[in-house]
Amino acid sequence: MKTTVFWTEEFPRPADLPTSELPETIDVAIIGSGYTGLNAALALRKAGASVAVLEQATIGWGASSRNGGMALTGLKEEMPVVFKRYGAEMGRAFWQWALDAVAHVEQTVAAEGIACEFARTGHVTLAFKPSHYARFAEEVRWFHDTLAYDDLWVMSKSELRSEIGADVYHGGLGDRNSAALHPARYVFGLAQAAARHGALLVEHAVVKRIARARLGFLVATSQGILNAREVLVATNGYTTNVVASLRQGIFPVGSYIITTAPLSVSLQQELSPRGRMFFDSKNFLNYFRLTPDGRMLFGGRHDLSTSLDLTESARKMQARMVEVFPQLAGVPVTHSWSGKLGLAFDLMPHVGRVRGVHYAYGYAGHGVSIASYLGKEVGEMLAGARTTNLFAQINHARYPFTPYDQLYLPLVSAWLRLLDRIS
Ligand SMILES: Cc1cc2nc3c(=O)[nH]c(=O)nc-3n(C[C@H](O)[C@H](O)[C@H](O)COP(=O)(O)OP(=O)(O)OC[C@H]3O[C@@H](n4cnc5c(N)ncnc54)[C@H](O)[C@@H]3O)c2cc1C
Repeated sequence: MKTTVFWTEEFPRPADLPTSELPETIDVAIIGSGYTGLNAALALRKAGASVAVLEQATIGWGASSRNGGMALTGLKEEMPVVFKRYGAEMGRAFWQWALDAVAHVEQTVAAEGIACEFARTGHVTLAFKPSHYARFAEEVRWFHDTLAYDDLWVMSKSELRSEIGADVYHGGLGDRNSAALHPARYVFGLAQAAARHGALLVEHAVVKRIARARLGFLVATSQGILNAREVLVATNGYTTNVVASLRQGIFPVGSYIITTAPLSVSLQQELSPRGRMFFDSKNFLNYFRLTPDGRMLFGGRHDLSTSLDLTESARKMQARMVEVFPQLAGVPVTHSWSGKLGLAFDLMPHVGRVRGVHYAYGYAGHGVSIASYLGKEVGEMLAGARTTNLFAQINHARYPFTPYDQLYLPLVSAWLRLLDRIS
């Protein structure tokens, strides 16, 4: 078993990706080369601004090349909660925005010719307990009544058999509009597109400090200093204290994935006859799908920590996978890896400005579509082509204790596990 990312082994960073030296001056410096940063870079270039994308490792190195490749409808926070918190008008706008985010990915890959196996597969939420299944019908009604959204459907335990070759779940809730893609093909395709449109991609440039200057900012990196008129921090789960109050508004959380060896076509058909994206209804949820080359990709969180041993993680994840799919007992696990996603206190994405520095983050495991669309909109805001964005209008809580999360996240973890047992 390799402790490397399956996606980038299958589709490595293209050798011909045009990267640049650190320029001396630029209109906009973007820190982070994932979906947020690259979509922002594309939007800025289309508006004529000069852009440098600064990446501490190699392009796309963060969550954007490591994820499950599920472009899901909605936000992480449940829509009825969003409605309650922000009111019906904002709630409706958030829902439509999240649908538009999936469409944005679809349109971008088509317009830029990114061959990332994007497909509207739909997703199914799997009821981990009978009580979770009981809530599904009510949810379908709520979406119909409140949002006139009729692309959800409920499946009983027996109906679920046409969707998944597993007996451990108590029913399912489907959504036709979610999609699948190959994360590495998508992020490297975005990088190629951004470079083609004239963005500078600077690898191995660790941003260490950002200071105000007379005309904009001085961005101190491991490769030298860059003068930028504007700065966008697009580091999500990899956000550090470079801008202290940004780290105070987000928790990095580890997510872990394994893949099996390729399965026979008949076993693929048995496990996932319609090629859906799946996740279950626990707090510590598992998510899984077939890869385009027919492996089972199975992911989730063990606790909230970001640094678990990948061999130990694979052992636990494989045990969980075999509980779900006993058919996979004895099938070799070929890859085990992890990455960091970013969670804000309210589970909402956030964009804003602190001491003049722009930021967009907090996708909470929904970033394939949301980081992409928010990146585009923030790019448009920086280019002056848009004045605001939905997420800029909501409060973003920040606390000085957030960076010490390794001290208290084990307690949060234990609480969530308890909730999974009792609720
Ligand atoms: C294992 C896993 C599975 C996931 N599955 C899904 C899924 O199926 N569906 C879904 O919607 N979402 C999923 N997500 C979440 C999704 O991948 C992220 O929300 C999304 O990729 C975030 O994109 P981003 O561009 O904001 O950040 P990232 O892609 O994480 O990029 C941030 C970049 O910033 C760079 N950086 C950080 N600090 C500095 C610095 N000081 N200087 C220079 N560069 C810096 C990092 O190196 C990194 O490359 C998953 C995440 C993980 C980890």
